[in-house]
Amino acid sequence: MPKTAETVLEINLNHLEHNYRYLRGKLKPETKFLGVVKAFAYGSDSVKIAQKLEELGVDYFAVAYVNEGVRLRDAGIKTPILVLHPQAVNFEELIERCLEPSLYSPKILKEFLGVAKELKQKDYPVHIKFNTGLNRLGFWENDIDYIKERLEGRDEIKVTSIFSHLAASEDLNEKEFTLKQISNFRKNAQEFDEKINHTPFKHLLNTSGIINYPEAQFDMVRSGIGLYGFGNDTEVDSELKPVATLKTIISQIHKIEPGETVGYNRAFTSKGYQITATLPLGHADGIGRQYGNGNTYVNVNGQKAPIIGNVCMDMIMIDITNVDCEEGDEVIVFGENPNAEKFASTSKTISYELLTSISQRVKRVFLES
Ligand SMILES: *Cc1c(COP(=O)(O)O)cnc(C)c1O
Repeated sequence: MPKTAETVLEINLNHLEHNYRYLRGKLKPETKFLGVVKAFAYGSDSVKIAQKLEELGVDYFAVAYVNEGVRLRDAGIKTPILVLHPQAVNFEELIERCLEPSLYSPKILKEFLGVAKELKQKDYPVHIKFNTGLNRLGFWENDIDYIKERLEGRDEIKVTSIFSHLAASEDLNEKEFTLKQISNFRKNAQEFDEKINHTPFKHLLNTSGIINYPEAQFDMVRSGIGLYGFGNDTEVDSELKPVATLKTIISQIHKIEPGETVGYNRAFTSKGYQITATLPLGHADGIGRQYGNGNTYVNVNGQKAPIIGNVCMDMIMIDITNVDCEEGDEVIVFGENPNAEKFASTSKTISYELLTSISQRVKRVFLES
């Protein structure tokens, strides 16, 4: 792998392909695959990731908000895009850019019907979201009659799919609850099909759902974190390959005397003759203050170096007293070792948060062989 000369987030598209094929391998050949590329494709680069997934034959994309879908359309992405959490203020633009809304409440359904009518749409594809226990977004099962009434005698929209989202697919202690969610969804789906005069396709599973409940794959699955190399399970993680590696270099090395302090508020005090290195990244790049003060280590030439003192906006300092390195050497913040899940766990968070926090200031570089 090429050594870096500055802070970069390296995106390995071969690893993306590996993860996609691994997850697909868990499914029936006819099951459709939706790639979740919200939040800059989990902090990587939504356009590059979507282009690669489109090339691999993914069936659908999902983003959270309309502007994320617009970005993909601007880049020439042709695959259908589900917008999971749209707001009415963006419905005109959503329709102009052929994005497909999740309709999750009576209010949002009414608002979308209004805009679809104004723009003289016919059979515009929409996706109805049911709440089966996450209690976040979605219609309740007793809204089905309301939806039916709203749709009767009009043709502006067509329900392409119905879906729901699991609350704890990664947690096998919650298996009973998850099985109940699956059976609730099955029941909603059946009732919906009986009351609407066509059969929308169905989807429920996220990455951990694919791993733990493949019997509930219905017609499509929606995977995000798995594509990027994590499966909320160390065994699954060992099968997947991390797509993103955050790399930086050593800007400067300091030799400090006993009792000297390092960084803002003098948060680190040297216990002896110590050696520190300063790295060009900080909380403005997505490595928050919670990773400082010895909580977390980075990888310098294969050796562990703890982050010391307070994380600054554009810099962090590490202890390299026992590490063989020099100015200009590459530092792996996270990637294969430590991986993002492990790095994140040092501050009691998860790979999802760490990955999506890497700010747009960090240059993205792409690897593909
Ligand atoms: C983000 C999201 C997903 C993807 O979940 P992963 O755990 O990353 O696979 C799937 N479905 C919905 C509704 C989501 O919001």
